[in-house]
Amino acid sequence: MSISRREFNRNITRLGALGLAAELLPSLTSPLLAQPSSRKIGYAVIGLGRIADLHMQGIHLSPNAKITALVSGHRDKAEKYAAQYGVPTSSIYSYENMDALRNNPAVDAVYICLPNSMHAEYTIRAAKLGKHVFCEKPMATTVADAQAMIDACKAANVKLMIGYRCHYESTNLAAIKLIREGAIGQIQSIQSAFGFSCGADEWRLTKALGGHGPLFDVGIYCLNATRYLTGEEPASFSAYAYSNPNDPRFRDVEENLVWITKFPSGVVASCSTSYGSNMDGYYRVYGSKGWLQVDTAFSYEGLSLKAFYNRDGVTESERTVVLNQPNTEKIPQQFVNEANHFTQCILENKTPTAPGEEGLKDMTYMREIYRSAGITMA
Ligand code: NAD
Repeated sequence: MSISRREFNRNITRLGALGLAAELLPSLTSPLLAQPSSRKIGYAVIGLGRIADLHMQGIHLSPNAKITALVSGHRDKAEKYAAQYGVPTSSIYSYENMDALRNNPAVDAVYICLPNSMHAEYTIRAAKLGKHVFCEKPMATTVADAQAMIDACKAANVKLMIGYRCHYESTNLAAIKLIREGAIGQIQSIQSAFGFSCGADEWRLTKALGGHGPLFDVGIYCLNATRYLTGEEPASFSAYAYSNPNDPRFRDVEENLVWITKFPSGVVASCSTSYGSNMDGYYRVYGSKGWLQVDTAFSYEGLSLKAFYNRDGVTESERTVVLNQPNTEKIPQQFVNEANHFTQCILENKTPTAPGEEGLKDMTYMREIYRSAGITMA
């Protein structure tokens, strides 16, 4: 089935206004627009770095959510955010006394925004306190840790959601919708890349905190996108890694990784990631009737979709550019959508669209990619 330019533009306009995502990704069962609730879900944010800042803005704008506690090693930073979001200073915790959250009834859930290797420990700690867990990607640094996180949350009967923000981002959802509607025909192949030149003092460059290199950090976006674009699970991988031996940044983790994913239908995706070179995240999907490209695809805002395909069997083609605008608050809307979704799941006792099992899948696939590249991942 092909869609007309008018319908395409109408869909994009509606997507810009949000609310349709549940129709777009079959896996999205909860609406992105929050339903009014008499109760607000209280969140403790753990680790107050760059991504935490964005999540706090998202939670703040989510109608049924509020920030009720902060966990940080830097009291001054926590006090600044506490003042900004109306968190009582009595609800500022350190990593050492975080377990006192158990006795804070204003906290229903935690947002874990710590370096990768700390995700498992803090997820399991929070689950044991009886708090629902939102954990940033990559879910963990080993497959065993990812499984332990799922087990701990199940045992404590709390929800676990992994921070795949593109699942709540309108341009990516528009791309999925076009593909599912058959606009570009049968997918033949995909190209995708995401990377950046990593500063020498970043924890990301250490095995102890980052776990592994750019695949864990940004390549995971390409991996996850090829799965949601095809709607398939990978069948096999082949991969190559290269690090400049003279660059001291790459003593611990790889610099560049290139991999090919084969999907059961025969679709092949070729992806690249790097800590040595700036690669604006993008993907291009080639189909039997046309192609579509989202570039940039994984940024916080300013994403752009361009599609080129035949219509109704006639050799007429279409090109459309969609720009994802920030909302009136100038906050990347995807963070608000993500907070809405997790909050709604807690309020309605539903499973998040990206539960721990989704994170575990990517952990398992990344282990296969590393194995093919000759790098051992636990
Ligand atoms: P960051 O360095 O900006 O913040 C990390 C926070 O953890 C800081 O507040 C730091 O003080 C705290 N911390 C506690 N113990 C630490 C330790 N031993 N070493 C270093 N920091 C420590 O990092 P970030 O970019 O916010 O990344 C945090 C997590 O979020 C990572 O898992 C990353 O993969 C993920 N992330 C996700 C996105 C996204 O778009 N979803 C974007 C960036 C980062």
